[in-house]
Amino acid sequence: MIIVMRNGTSPEQVAEIETRLIELGYQVHPIVGVEKTVLGAVGGMEHVKVDAVDQLKAYEWVEDVVVITKPYKFVSKEYNKGARSVVDVDGVRIGGDDVVIMAGPCTVESEEQLMITAEAVARAGATVLRGGAYKPSTSPYSYQGMGVPGLELLQAAGKRFGMRVITEVMDPRKVELVAQFADILQIGTRNMQNYDLLREVGQSRIPVMLKRGMTAKFDELLLAAEYIACGGNERIMLCERGLRTFETYTRNTLDLSAIPVLHHLSHLPVIVDPSQGTGRRELVAPMSYASIAAGADGLIIEVHPNPDHAIKDGAQSITIPQFQTMMPQMARIAEAVGRRLAPAVEL
Ligand code: PEP
Ligand code: MN
Repeated sequence: MIIVMRNGTSPEQVAEIETRLIELGYQVHPIVGVEKTVLGAVGGMEHVKVDAVDQLKAYEWVEDVVVITKPYKFVSKEYNKGARSVVDVDGVRIGGDDVVIMAGPCTVESEEQLMITAEAVARAGATVLRGGAYKPSTSPYSYQGMGVPGLELLQAAGKRFGMRVITEVMDPRKVELVAQFADILQIGTRNMQNYDLLREVGQSRIPVMLKRGMTAKFDELLLAAEYIACGGNERIMLCERGLRTFETYTRNTLDLSAIPVLHHLSHLPVIVDPSQGTGRRELVAPMSYASIAAGADGLIIEVHPNPDHAIKDGAQSITIPQFQTMMPQMARIAEAVGRRLAPAVEL
């Protein structure tokens, strides 16, 4: 890192910072200019590095501390020597040449609703079934999900129609339970910085899709992913699901630049959720096409047999015929960018 001193800092004050840096395990390389002194610091003890920045900034005569290396390691592009990683979910490969389509209802509502949707999306070519059994709701009075019976239905539907299952886990105490039914654990936007939950899924070896917090910067998302990777679980996907902005026409502002940015910074696959990302059914298809064109490794799309009667997120859920129309279009766009939609793989 580089420590920039304020104009007029005395040699004694510079020496004090040098001493502090040496205590923290750094080698110090001073550059004394006409107006400013700058200290280059290399090395540093691993466990003090992150906090050292704040501690040094606390000195009145330190103007700025510039960190050169990235704050995350395991999820960084360099860690994988510049290559993209592939998360293999029992044969469904996420992050390689294939674009994986995950589809299903926002919320598991009944056996009938889930089975109709699962069969339709599988026949249309989806390889991962989505559905919430534990729902993060803004209001405690809103529907909270079916819980275990919902998980059982998801697992049964996945098996019956040859799809892997992704579902959200909100509670660190339920990670083991949800992992018994799911193939991929979803961490929702509201839980991106629930560090106990991140640590717990880091202890498991089941793939995780980590959604970007609705106000999270890329560094914050990648540091949240680092929590999971630190525990030894490197089977992580990142998911862009829209940001909270000043715009109210759409539910969120879907940041498609997240796809190339995250691919530049990290080796992890990037999934896009155009449903939460827009909140509007008519925007799901165009945003899905744009996501594939921009390099997304997968999409997670809310589909409902009767969106107008959905318990949750009906306005952003597409109908089964709409999904059927989208699939061949997405296949064409994937092909145009040198990829293909992931083929079905039997369990
Ligand atoms: C969902 O996928 O239905 C959901 C609640 O997602 P998010 O955490 O992105 O709001
Ligand atoms: Mn939803």
